[in-house]
Amino acid sequence: MDLFECDNDVDLACELAPEIAGAEDGLEHDVLCSFGHLKYPGHDGTINNVRKAEENSVLGGLRQKLDAGLGDSLFRKYRGLAEACGDAWVKHEAQYKVIILGALMMGTGAKINAHDIQHLRHLASVVQSNEHFTLPFADTGFRGPSKRQFLAALDNYQPGTPRDYNQPSCHACGKSRQDTEKPLFKCGGCMDTFAVAWFCDRDCQKSVWSIHKPNCGANRNSISINV
Ligand SMILES: [Zn+2]
Ligand SMILES: [Zn+2]
Repeated sequence: MDLFECDNDVDLACELAPEIAGAEDGLEHDVLCSFGHLKYPGHDGTINNVRKAEENSVLGGLRQKLDAGLGDSLFRKYRGLAEACGDAWVKHEAQYKVIILGALMMGTGAKINAHDIQHLRHLASVVQSNEHFTLPFADTGFRGPSKRQFLAALDNYQPGTPRDYNQPSCHACGKSRQDTEKPLFKCGGCMDTFAVAWFCDRDCQKSVWSIHKPNCGANRNSISINV
């Protein structure tokens, strides 16, 4: 499962999108709801070059807006809301919303203050992270591989270059081709299934085998659809 494919992730992105896009519909809104890269433009599953160019110009416009102060003020607002929460469950959701905000900002290539980057790392260490199958209503924090992908995105983030969450990322270290500059490979055990684990090298594959094993290919039971 790629980062930000959980229903809850998309719900939170769509809640934040109007605050950045300034409207509840339109291409800016759609780009944000799909974490910076339109996955299903035209709902036919194809991304053509015209659409890609359009997407890049939309990302550029969003980045400008965020860099002009909107990004900082949104971090202040949502960090403040999370810190003010008393109820543990509400606080968890509010903290995860700050993570989604950070992910959206990286998806546009916007600048993020060093202290906000630091805070995002801290939040990633405190929110719930599920390695295995979770029922949809409990699927509220990170998936394990998504957490590692988010941390790798923070570590390797280059403002001005939109982070592409749709590229496969290593199941173990979270890096994508944007970081490794070499193609990742699919786990042999699950490469023919719809939920595939990717790795950047054999050491990474070995390091998480005990976690991945129950969810890999033939070992996966019918409900364990989270990779
Ligand atoms: Zn790796
Ligand atoms: Zn596998």
